[in-house]
Amino acid sequence: MKQIHVAKHAPEAHLVKGFLESNGITAVVRGEFLTSGWGELPADVCSVWIADDAQFERANELLIAFLTGGAAREHRGRHWRCPRCGEELEGQFTACWKCGTPRAGES
Ligand SMILES: [Zn+2]
Repeated sequence: MKQIHVAKHAPEAHLVKGFLESNGITAVVRGEFLTSGWGELPADVCSVWIADDAQFERANELLIAFLTGGAAREHRGRHWRCPRCGEELEGQFTACWKCGTPRAGES
């Protein structure tokens, strides 16, 4: 039994557990019973554990990819460069404000 992730709250712990189990890794959430109904307790008592130590390395790799990939999808401020005029644009623009060229991949 190895701890792989400390979650900020129970839903996050269960998200990680569900992700790992969808990849065939048996995971256990510990500590959630401490937070339910007891708002005074610290919120960081929720953690995810790998039942089989042999799966830990693979679980860790998957989890890093999962967490960083999820962060990248949420990151909306990514810059892009207009293919026509070379203007650098903020991620929220779907077309170049200078020449009107749409961002690659958008219609
Ligand atoms: Zn442009």
